[in-house]
Amino acid sequence: MDCRSDEELFQLVQESKVHTAEGKVADYIPALAQADPDSLAVAMAFPDGSCYSAGDVNKKSTLQSISKVIALALALLDNGEEYVFQRVGMEPTGDPFNSIIKLETTEPHKPLNPMINAGALAVTSMIKGDSVEERLGRIIHLTELITGVEGIGYNKEVAMSELQTADLNRSLAYYLKQYHVIEENVETVIELYTKQCAIEMNCSDLAKIGLTLAMDGKHPLTGETLLPPRVASICKTFMVTCGMYNASGEFAIRVGIPAKSGVAGGIMAAVPYRCGIGIFGPALDERGNSIAGWDLMERLSKKYDLSMF
Ligand code: GLN
Repeated sequence: MDCRSDEELFQLVQESKVHTAEGKVADYIPALAQADPDSLAVAMAFPDGSCYSAGDVNKKSTLQSISKVIALALALLDNGEEYVFQRVGMEPTGDPFNSIIKLETTEPHKPLNPMINAGALAVTSMIKGDSVEERLGRIIHLTELITGVEGIGYNKEVAMSELQTADLNRSLAYYLKQYHVIEENVETVIELYTKQCAIEMNCSDLAKIGLTLAMDGKHPLTGETLLPPRVASICKTFMVTCGMYNASGEFAIRVGIPAKSGVAGGIMAAVPYRCGIGIFGPALDERGNSIAGWDLMERLSKKYDLSMF
């Protein structure tokens, strides 16, 4: 599926792009600080196989928190719903994505949902395999399956940069280990999680993840089941309630589309039965969402009447 550049999308990107100046690239992972704050790209993938784009659509970026959706899908496939939700909850937190506070104040001490870092670490630790390489390979394989793109890899420099600075995530993981939510070695789960977050792709591949979720896990053209519908449904529901961190409620009101963001500036969105959307715009707002990407999602939702509510 080649992505064709589209004049209407280009206009919307130009309008949203002014907002990049109001944001800041993430710098707590040093390698992400090198991103170009002014860039903004979008792709929309449709069930008939067409794809439209604007901006630097071929530029690759890391998934970061968007990978939490894929890891959740794999953990559900590996362990089933009951096992997963014994260890991680289903409720939004209203706190920043890397907050530790509710781990202490919530009884039992399990993370509130799989889209915050604590929950994602718990989920990643449930992914089966004998080594980090094998488990990462399985995450990448699922990513290739749901995008229909081969040769997906991870950015070693970004992974190493995060691994060296991930002490807050280590704290979360140690906390969870104390309460037996995580059973394995903390360094192992941190290594797998940082590599998973560093999986990279361009925004048209990101749109394809959204399209597969939008189609309840089915390949839009062949009808092949890439993800069981129940798994796709759980992923989309978490995207609505927790996908944009502690701005998910506002995003549901303003945009009304299941979406997941990441601190590299990505937004992956699934408009049920209509399309998948992928955006990369590295300048972030104070809650860690792509600032121009958010604005662009609002414009897309209004112009094409995409809100599901
Ligand atoms: N790898 C990042 C982290 O754990 C992902 C966070 C994000 O994208 N919000 O901090």
